[in-house]
Amino acid sequence: MREGHQRDGAILGASRACVAVHPSDMAVAMATLDAVVHVQGPDGERTIPLTQLYRLPGSEPERDTVLSRGELITAVDLPPLDWAAHSRYRKIRDRASYAFALVSVAAALDVVDGSVRDVRLALGGVAHKPWRAATAEQALRSGPADAASFRAAAEAELADARPLPGNAFKVPLARNTIVRTLLDLAEEQR
Ligand SMILES: Cc1cc2nc3c(=O)[nH]c(=O)nc-3n(C[C@H](O)[C@H](O)[C@H](O)COP(=O)(O)OP(=O)(O)OC[C@H]3O[C@@H](n4cnc5c(N)ncnc54)[C@H](O)[C@@H]3O)c2cc1C
Repeated sequence: MREGHQRDGAILGASRACVAVHPSDMAVAMATLDAVVHVQGPDGERTIPLTQLYRLPGSEPERDTVLSRGELITAVDLPPLDWAAHSRYRKIRDRASYAFALVSVAAALDVVDGSVRDVRLALGGVAHKPWRAATAEQALRSGPADAASFRAAAEAELADARPLPGNAFKVPLARNTIVRTLLDLAEEQR
């Protein structure tokens, strides 16, 4: 693949078979909100947490989801989140419209007395599935709601990033977008 074609590619969880990224914005936001997908199939109904619906490519890049043949998504539940007022979706893209995310960040942040009481964080444009940033979330909980802490958490999440030669810029872009988005949410709770 030429370097210019690598610009949109994955930096997390890619395989030799596939470096394509998940295309949607909504599923990234729903990953943050712990959405649950209801599925009707030949063997009956089942529910799947959205974070487990999409899969990384591995050696089967043709399978985007864990759905089996004949299964149909019939509903999506969004559990209530009483601090969801402090949430944001920030999308970085090359054009103002009709452009996929180079990097996107879906975040919800609950700050009490300058500390992070709870946080939800997911990234788009970086992997073959909406990337729930569990490592960063764990690093952030109970810590100070400040730039140094946000940056350390973002760097912990991105420690395993393996960019292509043509998209190494996505690593600092993702880090900075996480930090800026969390700072915005912290500042509105001062
Ligand atoms: C130029 C362009 C730019 C775009 N930019 C963006 C963007 O910036 N942000 C954004 O969010 N989206 C964007 N989109 C839309 C996005 O890329 C995808 O179209 C969207 O994520 C849906 O994916 P799809 O087209 O593969 O889905 P579909 O083709 O609709 O479906 C994919 C598969 O899912 C199956 N399927 C459909 N419904 C169900 C169901 N209920 N249960 C089970 N299986 C089902 C289908 O049978 C099919 O096999 C853009 C699209 C284009 C063409």
